[in-house]
Amino acid sequence: MTGALEITQLYDKYVVPSYTRSLTLVKGRGATVWDADGKEYLDFLAGISVVNVGHCHPRVTAAITEQAQTLVHVSNLYYTENQARLAEKLAGLALGGKCFFCNSGAEANEALIKLARLWGHDDGKYVVITMKNSFHGRTLATAAATGQAKIQKGFEPMPEGFAYAEFNNLESIAAQITDKTAAVLVEAVQGEGGIIPAEKDFLVGLRKLCNEKNILMLCDEVQCGMGRTGHWFAFQASGVEPDAFSLAKALGNGYPIGAIVTAPKLADVFQPGKHASTFGGTPLACAAALATLEVIEDEKLVEKAAATGAEFRSKLEDLVSKYDRVTGTRGMGLMLGLVLDRPAKPLVDIMMKNGLIALATAETIVRFLPSLNISKAELEKGLAIVEKSIKEWLGQG
Ligand SMILES: *Cc1c(COP(=O)(O)O)cnc(C)c1O
Repeated sequence: MTGALEITQLYDKYVVPSYTRSLTLVKGRGATVWDADGKEYLDFLAGISVVNVGHCHPRVTAAITEQAQTLVHVSNLYYTENQARLAEKLAGLALGGKCFFCNSGAEANEALIKLARLWGHDDGKYVVITMKNSFHGRTLATAAATGQAKIQKGFEPMPEGFAYAEFNNLESIAAQITDKTAAVLVEAVQGEGGIIPAEKDFLVGLRKLCNEKNILMLCDEVQCGMGRTGHWFAFQASGVEPDAFSLAKALGNGYPIGAIVTAPKLADVFQPGKHASTFGGTPLACAAALATLEVIEDEKLVEKAAATGAEFRSKLEDLVSKYDRVTGTRGMGLMLGLVLDRPAKPLVDIMMKNGLIALATAETIVRFLPSLNISKAELEKGLAIVEKSIKEWLGQG
């Protein structure tokens, strides 16, 4: 096999340097990955909440393998069973309307934005209000929707039709509403923004505000959806339902697939010719997603994410009380952040050296997104590495 050095040299020469990369990984199983030197790592990131049922889950792998031998792709000009079954399943989990399938989170959010514009078009409504500190993707429109200057810098002028409000601040949203407002788009738990949950009152108030003003409430569930927070979808924790929401990351457990799920009132807004995606909802992608959903149900992973998340969080709280520079925890279910009083990257690097993969987010947050079926033993082992790494980081190791 090609060695790690040779691979990184090929990257240096032929892959555009748009990411800062570290390990060269060659294999994964459950919550464990291996690098090119055979070193083992506990993966507490799961591809940033993508492999929610673990790496190479046998049932997902079997579904992909079988479908790859039956029918991989036909145009969306034809009916296929897997897309029909997946749409039925997702609509049954929330909102009860219809679905549109695509390939990524950005593409799903693009679909939400286009849906809102089409819905509001005849009334002259097209502006989508998004939150400061949000993340919605890297295409031009979703980068414009993302309320972070660093994502937009260098790509100006940004597409118009977006306004920005403060997260968890209803007055700030109300202040941005005009007769051109079509929708408000929020993450029920901000991921890239630093694992910040929306307050229940905020989402309940937002639903009411949107009803009063006749504008759409849209949720980006790309990172916080699919059982991650101990609910199928994070907005369900507040008891309110948006008019539509987006999914991607964990939907196919690593096989690329994105989707939007709508309420009945928006189910028929996209008429023939209004939106499309060549690879959206292929038999293969939908086979992966159907198997992933079955695993989440059969292994009771939504409930498990809530229980394991609570245990994980209380152990992280112990670290907060023990170590000075570890100042707090935040999040929901198995979407957790450990808050430091300084940049998190050096600590995350030590964790990696010690065999645990996590991610530094929003400067000072260590972000943990392990697979939802992580075992008690793996959790304990991971926590031991976290504590050992904190000691080293503090110079006590
Ligand atoms: C990752 C992410 C996206 C973008 O998804 P891609 O598949 O990378 O396009 C959008 N919204 C949220 C909340 C995300 O975490």
